[in-house]
Amino acid sequence: MSATRVRPSLESFGVGIGCPATGQFTSLDTGNLENVAEVPRRSNVSDMNFDYVVVGGGIVGLTVAREIAGRSMGSVAVFEKEPRLGAHGSGRNSGVIHAGIYYKPATLRAQICRDGARRMREYAAERDVCWKKSGKVIVATTAAAVGQIDVLLERALANGIRVERIGSDELSRLEPEARTHEVALHSPDTAVIDPLEVLAELRADLGMAGVTVRVGCGVTGIDESSRTVRTAEGPVGFGTLINAAGLHADRVARSMGVGRAYQIMAFRGAYRELAPAAAGRFRGSVYPTPDLRMPFLGVHITPDPRGRVFVGPTAMPALGREHYGKIAGLDPVEAARTATALGLMLATNRNGMRGLVRAEMRRYSAAGFLREARALAPGLRAEDIGRVCKIGLRAQLVNRKTRELVDDYVFERTKHSLHVLNATSPAFSSAFALAEMIVDEL
Ligand SMILES: Cc1cc2nc3c(=O)[nH]c(=O)nc-3n(C[C@H](O)[C@H](O)[C@H](O)COP(=O)(O)OP(=O)(O)OC[C@H]3O[C@@H](n4cnc5c(N)ncnc54)[C@H](O)[C@@H]3O)c2cc1C
Repeated sequence: MSATRVRPSLESFGVGIGCPATGQFTSLDTGNLENVAEVPRRSNVSDMNFDYVVVGGGIVGLTVAREIAGRSMGSVAVFEKEPRLGAHGSGRNSGVIHAGIYYKPATLRAQICRDGARRMREYAAERDVCWKKSGKVIVATTAAAVGQIDVLLERALANGIRVERIGSDELSRLEPEARTHEVALHSPDTAVIDPLEVLAELRADLGMAGVTVRVGCGVTGIDESSRTVRTAEGPVGFGTLINAAGLHADRVARSMGVGRAYQIMAFRGAYRELAPAAAGRFRGSVYPTPDLRMPFLGVHITPDPRGRVFVGPTAMPALGREHYGKIAGLDPVEAARTATALGLMLATNRNGMRGLVRAEMRRYSAAGFLREARALAPGLRAEDIGRVCKIGLRAQLVNRKTRELVDDYVFERTKHSLHVLNATSPAFSSAFALAEMIVDEL
């Protein structure tokens, strides 16, 4: 492939060169992000060509690059706009390696989660990444939710996942603080992991495999006809482009003429931490039965592998794709777009959106949040739950025509590119299997 100059017509999708201020962290605790600081640049990539260019250095971009390198398919470069890996979803999630219970059996999410989760656990064990198979219980917080336990049991069995339907006595033995109406589900294979350590390991793998990883180097425009991306370091040629841009994936796709049926809506998830004395009373994760019309799992209690315990995340439509602070990341254009989309979704009550918004309003105050947590574990008191300490934004795809939240992975392609459009949970858990599926398509 020959080097090509970027033409003035290069289509841009509105992500600032380098690291836009909107993506910066708030003063909230974001974990040990410093550990994922990057190695200095060795040389400039401008005017270079790669067989594969990956846009986005989250879990999807990094595992895809690793899979391509592992198959010796050609040269690979990953471009990440933030100065560190893990600045967005992949570094701000619950850190749960989902077993694969919730997903409708015909979906891609169901088909690859079990394999992906097994591979993630094996990878963690091999690399000494901090993780723990702490298990999970799913409880019925109301009498009406009891039926959902059986729906989840059926899905789990159809997906080949080990789960057990348990009564209150067994629940008390496993998770003394949790309460349920009559029955609960126990998933012994659910694990928790430090997601930033996973990213750091993957970064090291890529370095060993000769993959170029550029951080603080956003892709700001793409021209498919000349197969060139514009980056903060200058133009770079590609054979095939993989769009793994998370919250911005729809914009990148649209700049190449695909993904027009969709738009990404960011849902803001806030977590609060339990005080150490209360944290010590939990052994694994405690989840409610979710509203199965929604792609979200509900506010849950989850330990990290080092024993800190978090309650969350909420799921409030955000006023910007990187709206992490009160004001930081608030984007008036995006806020107006979200308000319009949300208004239409509320009018039609697609996915039970009215119920979600009502629940989110209740969770907004500390008292409402406590009530939610006490529905899972009634012994929790106000003094056990701290302030909001971590925020993550889910990149949720919305079908622009039907106004429905899309509940499976979506891929679109052009002749020289593949776009990953809805890498929502459990994409972290499933990442190795998802990357294999994506690379099979290249
Ligand atoms: C609150 C929350 C809780 C979750 N809990 C879990 C869980 O417990 N288990 C689980 O399996 N999953 C969970 N998830 C989902 C999981 O985190 C995501 O599915 C996964 O991280 C998506 O990875 P990604 O690589 O697609 O996106 P990201 O991690 O967002 O990575 C995309 C990257 O692309 C970069 N980028 C964007 N535009 C450009 C550009 N133009 N040029 C260069 N770089 C660009 C961004 O800076 C970003 O780093 C959760 C998500 C959230 C938000």
